[in-house]
Amino acid sequence: MRGPTAPKITAVITHLTNADLHCHSVVSDGTLTPEALAVRAHANGVGLWALTDHDEVGGIARAAAAAKALGMPFLSGVEISVTFASRTVHIVGLGFDANDPALVQGLQRTRGGRGERAHEMSEQLARAGIHGAYEGALKYVGNPELISRTHFARFLVDSGVCADTHEVFRRFLTEGKPGFVPHRWASLGDAVRWITEAGGVAIIAHPARYPFSANEEFALFTDFKHHGGRGVEVVTGSHSAAEAAKYAELALEFDLLASRGSDFHSPDESHTDLGQLPDLPGQLQPVWEALQHRIQ
Ligand code: AMP
Ligand code: MN
Ligand code: MN
Ligand code: MN
Repeated sequence: MRGPTAPKITAVITHLTNADLHCHSVVSDGTLTPEALAVRAHANGVGLWALTDHDEVGGIARAAAAAKALGMPFLSGVEISVTFASRTVHIVGLGFDANDPALVQGLQRTRGGRGERAHEMSEQLARAGIHGAYEGALKYVGNPELISRTHFARFLVDSGVCADTHEVFRRFLTEGKPGFVPHRWASLGDAVRWITEAGGVAIIAHPARYPFSANEEFALFTDFKHHGGRGVEVVTGSHSAAEAAKYAELALEFDLLASRGSDFHSPDESHTDLGQLPDLPGQLQPVWEALQHRIQ
């Protein structure tokens, strides 16, 4: 005879759910495994979690299984690198089918070219007197297709060139500084379509972090909506209270759903831990209310 099965836990998701819908594992440029992130999110009281690795969905099955074992509601996630107006913009996707062929192939194309870019970054750093950066960065890489500036930043800190990652991105790896190699990522339209056609919702990540003029920002939001984008991150680890207030206004103006996520990468580097964020401003519609049916 079979024993009694555990009662199914039905999650109650509300405006005030401690949702953390943006973070990174070793599958991109985070330092924790998907399983360790799940444990940390759960311990910090996260009531709805998503893993959003850069240009990669390879960690989602592990994250979903770990979240399920903890009884923590979970959404699939990704953060896609996009080139818009000659700048890099990040688009978060949530609640999609992670096996969707067009999405998987699009992400694979987006990851392509990172290796060559990394070699060029290393050559530039060598010309600035910093040798062995490619090999140095590679030591921190968990996914060979996903060598990123973050891995170079870890090398520059651990080898004593810079005191912390903040100093790295002030002196290196950013526009006009040694180690910056411009790269052509996905188009805005492709990224939004891959996510949307796989059943998910596309979201503009950390909008305050882009060096856009007001006109360029308006164009980004307008084009994003035109392509079918539906949300914007209002509360994130990289927004001040004033920035969150500004994008709460823009969310209302553009009739966008609002998202909330720490952008946690590492216990040693991230200022905002998983689940440690202010609430969404009350008048906004949380993206997770529109994604109830996609929660695993
Ligand atoms: P990549 O996709 O290789 O261009 O690397 C981008 C990643 O570098 C971001 O996802 C962040 O993790 C990190 N990064 C970029 N700019 C900064 C910054 N100013 N401070 C800290 N980390 C940064
Ligand atoms: Mn990152
Ligand atoms: Mn980002
Ligand atoms: Mn991120």
